[in-house]
Amino acid sequence: MEFENTIGLETHVQLKTKTKMFCGCLLKTGCEPNRNVCPVCLGYPGALPVANKEAVKLTVMSGLMLGCSINRRATFDRKNYFYPDMAKDYQISENGNPLCIGGGIEITRPDGTRKFIRINHIHLEEDAAKINHYAVSSGVDFNRGGTPLMEIVSEPDMESADDAIAYLTALKEMLVYAGVSDCNLEEGNMRSDVNISIRPVGAEKLGTKVEIKNMNSFSGIHAALLHEARRQRECAAAGFPIVQETRRWDAEAMETASMRSKENAHDYRYFPEPDLVPVELSEEQIEAWRRLLPEKPEARRARMVADYGIAEYDAEVLSQHKENADWFEEAAAGLDKKTAKALCNLYMGDVMALMNASGKSIRECAMSPAALASLVKLATAGTINGPTLKELLPEIFEKGGDPEAIVKERGLGAVSDAGAIEALVDQAIAANPKSVADFKSGKKAAAGFIVGQVMKLSKGKADPKIAGRLVAERLAAAAAQ
Ligand SMILES: [Zn+2]
Repeated sequence: MEFENTIGLETHVQLKTKTKMFCGCLLKTGCEPNRNVCPVCLGYPGALPVANKEAVKLTVMSGLMLGCSINRRATFDRKNYFYPDMAKDYQISENGNPLCIGGGIEITRPDGTRKFIRINHIHLEEDAAKINHYAVSSGVDFNRGGTPLMEIVSEPDMESADDAIAYLTALKEMLVYAGVSDCNLEEGNMRSDVNISIRPVGAEKLGTKVEIKNMNSFSGIHAALLHEARRQRECAAAGFPIVQETRRWDAEAMETASMRSKENAHDYRYFPEPDLVPVELSEEQIEAWRRLLPEKPEARRARMVADYGIAEYDAEVLSQHKENADWFEEAAAGLDKKTAKALCNLYMGDVMALMNASGKSIRECAMSPAALASLVKLATAGTINGPTLKELLPEIFEKGGDPEAIVKERGLGAVSDAGAIEALVDQAIAANPKSVADFKSGKKAAAGFIVGQVMKLSKGKADPKIAGRLVAERLAAAAAQ
């Protein structure tokens, strides 16, 4: 029997706030354990939480980015469970009335087709503390306790591991774009619980779902989904029931393993949080936050292609990181399409190579967007030639400076006057009779050597195209004699 997958993701994203969700403690990584704590985030009885407005704002902005409708009156609930890293024995979350409802993301599949992945809702909650295990003991670090987390719950609209990764990639891109989270996977800023079930192709009823908890790497999620899809098919083929359970991914064994049978929602005994008032949002407030949203990456790509005449692929690479796209657009502002395209080619090639080699981002290097624009303008106008451009670029990347002033100061202006170059060609031919003889005897490569000599005589400033043409003409004439 043929089966199809049904996959849904619950993604926890750490919001980029200065302080915690329900207290004023600083959110900082790398501090000594239990440095940033207070009675609220330590879970002392009687301590009163106050909701972080910035966290509400960032969640609403995320919802607006993802096309959700915003709940004008959201409420917090207590989700009760015992865990040693949750001292008050409940987590404050939003159960019945989350901030954002609906929405979704369009993904592109490897075959180029597109699919809309719906989002069920986005709710706001607090993170638990962190348990550290030592040689003979364990300790709880409450620095992380109370971190604002937004949980984005998708509908089970994904059908493959590739779909899940495309969804997460697009989600991450948008959230980083909107500045609501760093989505740093290594630091656990973005973690997903992955739900997967299988059903016979065409069947209406969903299969029994298995949840794989707390995955923070895209490659891990991809491998876990492939493995679980295969395991469930093997169970079905062998006639074993698929059990509703939570499994964990063992990255070393490359397989999932059973953790516990799944709790149902009522196990948490949700009830309204009595210590927090509802979050009430006015239409004006929501609109004010909407105005803070950046252009969506997708729309930006299309606009960049139209505005600068650059290739779709280039627009996609540039817009993957907002910083790169912003910098490029600053540099390309006001340029005609031909120059903007030349700038894009240089950025995609030499500039990105310099970034890779130096480990510096485009904002960390010394070159300003205006300097790169000026360099490209000098080249397209023929004021400097290609070799001079390639020579100046690393220097300006490293040390900064105004290309126009540097070219003037060092006399690097290109020589494109054919008469001046002709004199140098004569000089080079006279000085290298052996190369001329080689050319006559059929060694065409000798022409390249002569061009090289002309460039050398001009101290690299001759226009290589004109030099090449003139040398070819002279040698052809000499060979015809
Ligand atoms: Zn605190």
